[in-house]
Amino acid sequence: MHVLALALLALVQDDGCRRCEHRGVVPCGRHSEESLEAESRVLFCAFAAACEDCRGTLVVDCKRCAGGPGTAEAGARRQAIEAWLPRDEVERFLGRDLMRVETERYRLVVESGPIQDGKKRIDAHVLAHHLADDVEFVARRLAQDFRLQPDEYRAKMRMWVWGDPKDHAAVMPEFLHASGPGEFGYLGRDPVLSSWTESPFFDEAIEVRTLFAHKAGHLLLSNVIRELWIGDLGGGWLDVAVGHSYEYERFGHTRNYCIEEATVPSNYAGGIWRAAVRARLEKEPEPFLPRVLKERPGAMRQEDQALCWSFLDYLRLERAEALRPILADYKAKREPREVLPDRLGASVLELEAVWRAWVKDRYPKKGDELQEAR
Ligand SMILES: [Zn+2]
Ligand SMILES: [Zn+2]
Ligand SMILES: [Zn+2]
Ligand SMILES: [Zn+2]
Repeated sequence: MHVLALALLALVQDDGCRRCEHRGVVPCGRHSEESLEAESRVLFCAFAAACEDCRGTLVVDCKRCAGGPGTAEAGARRQAIEAWLPRDEVERFLGRDLMRVETERYRLVVESGPIQDGKKRIDAHVLAHHLADDVEFVARRLAQDFRLQPDEYRAKMRMWVWGDPKDHAAVMPEFLHASGPGEFGYLGRDPVLSSWTESPFFDEAIEVRTLFAHKAGHLLLSNVIRELWIGDLGGGWLDVAVGHSYEYERFGHTRNYCIEEATVPSNYAGGIWRAAVRARLEKEPEPFLPRVLKERPGAMRQEDQALCWSFLDYLRLERAEALRPILADYKAKREPREVLPDRLGASVLELEAVWRAWVKDRYPKKGDELQEAR
């Protein structure tokens, strides 16, 4: 039969089911358009999986026809969700189901309860999807910057925020091998971050989101290529810069610092740094990099963290090809003094001069927009 005739025949046969556009399934009516889109960006979501109508597949059988290609897809999807649904290690440990979401690179637990998001209040499920989008943004940037291959990820990053500090205290010794106040991260092998909301310092969506975006970078950086934190292998400046860079890029500012104390009362230059860094470099002509590049993250002052961020800002835009070898060198425990001169073809003092000239050329005196190169 002629191809066109076949196509016409198919149209006639399926004509009865315009409702599902011949898919055999239609979107589950229990989820808003916005939340269907949010669900499509994650692998699994406990909230969606609990839907009585679709059980997480987000579609239901079309009532007007006997099914279509979407029917089998939904069945396979349902099986994948059922395999994911049994309690994970944290749920078993705490003895209850948790609000968890899994993305390509992260497994999140969001037990904050309803939380203030600007003028409105959002529930933990909505927050969980914001966080999922944020951390995957970080993962994409990190993969681009450091040219990561799929087989270079060693684990899924686990990131948790609790509403009850007792949960945080309970999981600390079990999963983070430590106890202490405030949020806490475990880096290198099987990275995990645990944090908990607390009034009035850490009880708004933006605070949780920026913390997650910041730590998402640290966790991944410590795990990719080789399960090793580079913070005390000469790559402290890079670890600091990565934490700030993606937080900054995602939110237009940074508010988390790489220090061990739980809460930082101040924020250098309001967390918006280009003009501040430019002014500081102009005011203080003595070289910074020889000192700052050697510092450990936990001890670094806020304004010096901004310099590390700026140096990476420069490298990402002008020397992107060098980032991957630089990271690989630190991970291989190469002598730190050799890494930058070798990979960038200049001494640290020469790099300082080039970076300073770049900052003067590209950073504004006011505002935060990069200027056109002159
Ligand atoms: Zn149908
Ligand atoms: Zn969801
Ligand atoms: Zn549903
Ligand atoms: Zn940090």
